[in-house]
Amino acid sequence: MVRGSTERPGRATLYAMNADNAHWQMGNAPTPHLQIDGIVFDLDGTVYLGERALPGAVEGIAELRQRGKQTLFVSNKPLEPPAVYAAKLTRLGIPTRPDEVITSASVLGHYLALHTPELRYYVIGEPALRADLRSRGLTILDELAGQDAQEVIDPEGIDAVIVAFDRTLDYRKLNTAYQALRNGARFFATNADKACPMPGGAIPDAGGTIAALEHMTGRKLELLAGKPSPIIMEVALNKLELPAARCMMVGDRLETDIYMGQQAGMATAAVLTGAATRADIAHMQVPPTVVIDNVGMLPALLE
Ligand SMILES: [Mg+2]
Repeated sequence: MVRGSTERPGRATLYAMNADNAHWQMGNAPTPHLQIDGIVFDLDGTVYLGERALPGAVEGIAELRQRGKQTLFVSNKPLEPPAVYAAKLTRLGIPTRPDEVITSASVLGHYLALHTPELRYYVIGEPALRADLRSRGLTILDELAGQDAQEVIDPEGIDAVIVAFDRTLDYRKLNTAYQALRNGARFFATNADKACPMPGGAIPDAGGTIAALEHMTGRKLELLAGKPSPIIMEVALNKLELPAARCMMVGDRLETDIYMGQQAGMATAAVLTGAATRADIAHMQVPPTVVIDNVGMLPALLE
């Protein structure tokens, strides 16, 4: 646990929990030097917001890499394949390969291909997700278009339902998944976010669809691939090939990014460029290892 804090003239300020964990202070303690070799970054609200890199992100990540740190990026969004996020990061000034990006969809696809490749899946999701899952050798069923969506659909051939962020969700999909789950199909999801932040607000994400199906069927989701599931961190640590204790999770959401990193045994850095405020962090039972204004402050804290 890092105690105390440091103020660097002309740079962002490190805030760290004081000894009694009662409040945050800025001031006179030495800069912590954490022994970290691998850093996992959340994207939205941590590295970028919309089409803009957040302050400090481009320089901070460049410096960390220059010092030999491995970097990985995780997104809960199942809409695009990792290559799309890699291209976006590269465009914003953070050159990134697709294999440095992990999404909830890539994690679920990887996991299902490993553990239940024989199942036939019905997907509430968009075409890119279905294509990605198919590319991993999974059997993804088409819509049962021959059946009336307003009647009791016979969920023929469906062994498992996958729920994802789907902006084309309709009654046919809901009815099909409902019937399949009532019929005993397995129940998986990419992510469980309630809403997806957008310029001007947010739009409904997969969380509501999962909740609706759970409510309607009395079933419980069996497997969540995305944050805050431990699976996504497992995949990240596997990729880094480093022990959790030498890795750090950096993110703006306390209940997902920070919680997940803590559960995995990693150091954690909460950034104040997104969802979390210093007041939110002060209420945490187990605070993050460090709290930073932005990603640009990280190099100064790491060995
Ligand atoms: Mg975020």
